[in-house]
Amino acid sequence: MTAALLQVCVDPRLNHELIRVQVRQKLERSGIGASDIYVLNDIGGNPGSNLAHTLEQLAAIGIPVVFGAVLHHDDCVAERRGKRVPLEDAAHEMEKAFTTTRVRARVWTGQIRTQHNHVLWTDEPQPVYAPFTFGPPTIFPTTLLPTPSGNRAEYEASRAQSLLDAFRARHRQDR
Ligand SMILES: [Zn+2]
Repeated sequence: MTAALLQVCVDPRLNHELIRVQVRQKLERSGIGASDIYVLNDIGGNPGSNLAHTLEQLAAIGIPVVFGAVLHHDDCVAERRGKRVPLEDAAHEMEKAFTTTRVRARVWTGQIRTQHNHVLWTDEPQPVYAPFTFGPPTIFPTTLLPTPSGNRAEYEASRAQSLLDAFRARHRQDR
């Protein structure tokens, strides 16, 4: 038996079962055989005492940790209050907690789209189709699009704007 530790925010809209399924798929894609996924939460997804306590307990009962992840989500109250640690720093916090407890596991990061509980992994840019092109479909990697943080409406609006800008640039080229 092995364990995967997942740090997320306390937001009540986050559906742990939907997120858990996507973490299991990630484990399978990465060839990691974690049998149990532990979902830990604190505001903003900041690693805290629950991570330390869980690591202590897993070490005490002899279950190795083979995977760690910190996932942020858009429209986060903690982020708006300035209480959310940046994603890279949060991942580093988890890495430090792993080192302290002699866990050798990589810490992954990603974003959850709150409305759909869809997980986007930082290391797996997902293609997005521009819905209004007339030639062959153009694919924009999501890494070129704004990060889903802060106000959701703003994010959707800026995403639509970048697709529109790309369409206009393409249209000018065609003429
Ligand atoms: Zn949040």
